Amino acid sequence: MSDCIFCKIIAGDIPADIVYQNDDVLAFRDLNPQAPLHVLVIPKKHIATINDMTATDAELVGKLYLAAQQIARQEGVADDGYRTVMNCNELAGQTVFHMHLHLLAGRAMNWPPG
Ligand code: AMP
Repeated sequence: MSDCIFCKIIAGDIPADIVYQNDDVLAFRDLNPQAPLHVLVIPKKHIATINDMTATDAELVGKLYLAAQQIARQEGVADDGYRTVMNCNELAGQTVFHMHLHLLAGRAMNWPPG
């Protein structure tokens, strides 16, 4: 999608601090981190929101979690713990309409989330 900021990062048109990638998934540090570790894990395929997923995307979304698991290990936070969050649409606070899994770690997390 030409007007999608995350598609531009995938294309290399906008810089990002990339921590992991494979054929299907890209992960980079959030510009406005909400925890000592805050990484966004995104599919290279443009899918706007969870609502736009189809059954054919199920394996791809599973790969986001496998990437998050690997990044947590490489960043040394897997054993202490981490949170993954995916916001969907306005009330959840989604601001970028290209599905992304937030990986947050390095501090105690509150529950329920705000
Ligand atoms: P959400 O509010 O769930 O849609 O999350 C969007 C996230 O993308 C926010 O945490 C932003 O700080 C982050 N973000 C927006 N633009 C960029 C960018 N160019 N590079 C890295 N993170 C970004």
